[in-house]
Amino acid sequence: MPGLPSVYLDYNATTPTLPEVVEVMMPYFHRYFGNAASGHLWGKEAAEALEKARTRLAELLEVTPQELIFTSGATEGLNLALFGLTAAYQSSGRHHLLIAATEHKAVLEPAQILQKRGWTVELLPVTARGEILPETLAHALRPDTLAVAVMLANNETGVIQPVAELAQLAHEKGAFFICDTTQAIGKIPVSLAQLGVDLAVVSAHKFYGPKGIGALYVRRRNPRTTLQPLIYGGGHERGLRSGTLPVPLIVGMATALEKVTQRLSEEKARLEALRYKLWEGIRHLFPAARWNSQGAPLLPNTLSVTFPGLKASDLLARMPLVAAATGSACTSARPEPSHVLLAMGFSPEEAKATLRFSLGLPTTAADIEAALGHLAQALRELQPKHAESK
Ligand code: PLP
Repeated sequence: MPGLPSVYLDYNATTPTLPEVVEVMMPYFHRYFGNAASGHLWGKEAAEALEKARTRLAELLEVTPQELIFTSGATEGLNLALFGLTAAYQSSGRHHLLIAATEHKAVLEPAQILQKRGWTVELLPVTARGEILPETLAHALRPDTLAVAVMLANNETGVIQPVAELAQLAHEKGAFFICDTTQAIGKIPVSLAQLGVDLAVVSAHKFYGPKGIGALYVRRRNPRTTLQPLIYGGGHERGLRSGTLPVPLIVGMATALEKVTQRLSEEKARLEALRYKLWEGIRHLFPAARWNSQGAPLLPNTLSVTFPGLKASDLLARMPLVAAATGSACTSARPEPSHVLLAMGFSPEEAKATLRFSLGLPTTAADIEAALGHLAQALRELQPKHAESK
């Protein structure tokens, strides 16, 4: 349909930085440009802004400022968590790692490398809706399990795992709990204290902050979590992550989280309504469509839909003005079917017939209508007979 506007429905891949966040960041690029590690006035100004941002982030996540280590994003945070923890506990006699089969590649790839280095890595299976059942974890935990890694919310399906319960089970067996909180922070209320996890990650570009900045939460008490660094140098971040800190990005990350947190509950209702409108529209256009993980606890913005008999890549190719995803952004360059959907029992064909739509702060009802218009056109091109009978 000519004339339909472009629509971005890929907010789980990344979000635009809010203009008010950019505004708050600006002075830290030029006016307060000092190195936060320098002892002079310029350095002190930068360090003050940095620590204020750390304190604000810690308040929002309900942890202490000393428990946050700034990183370049969630991938780095997860690498530091997995490699740092295993290096620190190499001689503990615990060499078993339990990793959810639906984790992001930023967890699965380091786990594979650890396996090559002699660690025993076991994947935790999920249900057909993508959930990790507490009894599955309880059975899989062993006396030599060092750590369990289960994400809070899945980037492809939006499924929210019962992390507080899972972390408690891990702790009862003396294992650490690593939680990839990347997709949940900024979309649902997240209190790291209440979740009771030992390691968790933050990535600003997922919640309307700048790209290239994130944090790793490292629990300091009951139990204290010890890590070995991956990056050595000037000893920044209590020696865990050396390198000059990007003050503008850190100030931007704290501001972004503050702004989205203020709007969480109103956004939840708004996004759920828009998602339902999108789903209803899809179902009307393609009655065989399936909403994956429907019925499980879900992020309010994520809709994973399988179009049986079609190829998601063909659909996307016919709607170039719509941004949606066939898998997670980081892996969609590879043609393999999504490991998340395969773990949920999908056939490779079903996985390849699946699209993820993820809505965000700027999404409007007009966007949903435009996306449905593009989809209708793509479906007409792919299924001429189907269109004639409609
Ligand atoms: N974990 C999850 C669940 C994600 O969705 C992503 C980003 O796609 C990452 C980790 C990696 O985040 P970053 O881009 O900050 O490295």
